[in-house]
Amino acid sequence: MAIRPYILAETNWKSLKNASFELAVLPWGATEAHNYHLPYATDVYEGEELAAEAAKHAWEQGGKVIVLPVIPFGVNTGQSDIYLDINLNPSTQFAILSDILTVLNRQGIRKFMIFNSHGGNNFKALVRELGLKFPEMFICVSNWTKVFERATYFKETGDHAEEMETSLLLYLKPDLVLPKKEWGKGNAKSFKIKAFTEGWVWAERKWSQVSEDTGIGNPTFATKEKGEQFFKDVTAKLGEMMLHLCKADISDLYE
Ligand SMILES: [Zn+2]
Repeated sequence: MAIRPYILAETNWKSLKNASFELAVLPWGATEAHNYHLPYATDVYEGEELAAEAAKHAWEQGGKVIVLPVIPFGVNTGQSDIYLDINLNPSTQFAILSDILTVLNRQGIRKFMIFNSHGGNNFKALVRELGLKFPEMFICVSNWTKVFERATYFKETGDHAEEMETSLLLYLKPDLVLPKKEWGKGNAKSFKIKAFTEGWVWAERKWSQVSEDTGIGNPTFATKEKGEQFFKDVTAKLGEMMLHLCKADISDLYE
């Protein structure tokens, strides 16, 4: 495999010595159970592969983008009783981001995108606080699960190890997906009080009380082909966005 110059983990000092980038992208995953059949690093693989492919689109059109190594642990506070779901608190995420931004800011890379790949990670509040701390930087968060209406690609809804994630993994890491007879149904319970389902009151879900197999959403109709189509469309659109951001003047963002 050829070295990709827009992937920090693969490139080298010879190439970087005199390089200059516009935009740094940080994929952020989680290490957690994904129904019975998907690997614990599902969100890590998704973040890594989607960010790399999107950056490739931008790079090929002249975008100076660099993808940083993926952060493998995310916020899993609601899954403390699920074996080896590794939790990183939001305050720890703030400390990590703060250190990374200190480096980028000092070295003049002023555009930064957190490439979020896990539902429990919620960066909005952190980005607000980091914005005050690093006023010269433009900091944003992308969420690839929201790029398209899910129903355009997938029959079933859900948000964890469901048809979408299973399709993606069948495409990206087929050897790591257990055979279909092992897939759990991903049945999930909802709050008895309706306001939570309607979305205007929020509380964290106690995962093990909500789902038996840790999945939320039925994976039955997942296929590799659906995963491939979704991957291509999502990365093309994210790549376009990265290119726009590379070219943007951060002192002149509004019209
Ligand atoms: Zn996931």
